[in-house]
Amino acid sequence: LLRDWRKELNRLLIVTFIFGCVGYFLNAMTLALLIALALYIGQNFYQLRRLHKWLSQDHINKSEPPESFGLWGDILDGIYRLQKRERKSSRKLKAIIDKAQESSAALEMAVVMVSKHSTLVWWNKAAETLLGLHFPNDQNQAVLNLIRDPRFADYFNSGSFTEPVVITSPGNKNLILEYHITLFGENERLIIVRDITQIHRLELMRKDFVGNVSHELGTPITVIKGYLENILDNADDLSEMWRNALLQMQQQSNRMENIVQDLLLLASLETKVIANHQESVNVRTLLNEIKSDTAQIFADKSHEFKIDCANEYTISADRSELYSAISNLAINAAKYTPVGGTIILSARREQDSFDIEVQDNGIGIEKHHLPRLTERFYRVDASRSSESGGTGLGLAIVKHIMVRHGANLKIISNPEKGSRFICSLPLARLIDSTEDSSGANNTHTIPDRPDIGARLH
Ligand code: ADP
Repeated sequence: LLRDWRKELNRLLIVTFIFGCVGYFLNAMTLALLIALALYIGQNFYQLRRLHKWLSQDHINKSEPPESFGLWGDILDGIYRLQKRERKSSRKLKAIIDKAQESSAALEMAVVMVSKHSTLVWWNKAAETLLGLHFPNDQNQAVLNLIRDPRFADYFNSGSFTEPVVITSPGNKNLILEYHITLFGENERLIIVRDITQIHRLELMRKDFVGNVSHELGTPITVIKGYLENILDNADDLSEMWRNALLQMQQQSNRMENIVQDLLLLASLETKVIANHQESVNVRTLLNEIKSDTAQIFADKSHEFKIDCANEYTISADRSELYSAISNLAINAAKYTPVGGTIILSARREQDSFDIEVQDNGIGIEKHHLPRLTERFYRVDASRSSESGGTGLGLAIVKHIMVRHGANLKIISNPEKGSRFICSLPLARLIDSTEDSSGANNTHTIPDRPDIGARLH
C-alpha cells in the first residue's frame, strides 16, 4: 500500500521536476509549475469523473469498472474485485433462495407467511390451489379477509396453537383442510395447511365399520346367549365336562356382549355432535346412584363405599354420558380393589375446575402404564382384566366423554396403595352450589394420598 503511494509521489515529483527544468530554461518557472499542477489535478478530475460515471450506471453489476493506471488503477481494480466477490455471493444466495422456493413449491401442504399485522407476506404454490390465494393481488391483504371461516378466525385470534384445527375448504366443500399455526420472529405466523380429505374419509370408514360390525354382532350374540341360558337352565342331565364347557361359553359370550356394547357406545360418542342442550345434573344424587349400582354389582366383595360431596352441586352436563363415565370409573375401582377395600366418590369445587373423583385403595397401577391407560384395548394385565370381564375400552369411553365436556381426566396411582381418577370439568359447567344443611353428607379425610400422577387431555 505504501509502495503505491510512493510511486504516485514519485510520478508527481518527476512531472514537477521536468516542468521545473523547462520553466527554468524558459525563465517561466511559476507558469511551468502551475501548468504541471493543473495537469495533475486535471488528470485526477478525469479519473474521478470516469469513476462517478461508472458508479451511476444502472447496470453497475454487469459492466466492468474503467481501465486505469497508478493509484487510480489500484482503486478501480479493488472495486472490480469487490464487485466480483459480491456477484458470486449474490449468485449463491439466489441459488439458495431458488432452491427454497422450488422445494416449497413442491410441497403438497400450503405454507403461508403472515406478518405481525396479520397481513399476507408470502405463500407457496399449494396455498394457491388449497386456499385460492392469488399472487400478487393478495399480497399484504389481511389474512382474515381471505380465509373467512369463523372457526379459522377464532383459532387465528386465540393465540394458542398447540392443536391444529380442521375445517372444510372455503372453495370446495369436499376438501377437508387441517390448519396449523406456528409463531416465529416478532409475532409473525406461519400457517401450514394440509389436505386431510383422504385421512378423514378413512377415519369415517373406520368409525362406520366398527359401528356396523358391532351393531351386526349384537343379534347373534343375543341368540347364542339365550340358547346357552336355556341349555344351562336344564343342564341336570348333562355331564360335568359339557356343563363346564357351556359355562365357559356363557362367560365368553357375556364378555363379547360387553365389548360390542362398549364399541357401540364409543362409536356413538365419536359420531354424535356435541349437544348444545345440556341438562342440570345434581352431582350428589348422581354419585349416590352410581354408588348403589356399583355396590350391588360387586356385592360379594363387601367394599366400603363413601360419598364426599360437601355442597349441593348442580352442573350442566349430559347426564347419561356423565353417569356412564363416573360409573365406569367406579366399576373399575371395585374390580381392581380387593375384598373389603374402600371406594370414595367425591366432588368439589377447585380453584379453576369442578372435580369429580373416584378413589380406591386397591391394587394401583405402575407409573409407566399411566399415559397409555385411555387407549382402546390397553390393559395393564390382560389376563386379570378379562378374568374380571374387562373389555379394555372403559377408560377410552371415559376420556371421550371428558373431551366432549371440555374436561380433563387426571390419573394418580401407586401400586399397592390405590388409584385416584379425577375428572376436572370447566368451572363454567357449575350452575349452582348451595351449602349442605342436612348433615347427611358423609365427609372424611382422604387417607394416604398416592403421589404418582399423569395428566391426560
Ligand atoms: P378394563 O375393561 O380392562 O378394565 P379399562 O379401559 O377400564 O379396561 O382400564 C384399562 C386398564 O386400566 C385395566 O385393564 C386395568 O389394568 C387398569 N385400571 C383401570 N382402573 C383401575 C383401578 N381403579 N385400579 C387399578 N387398575 C385400574
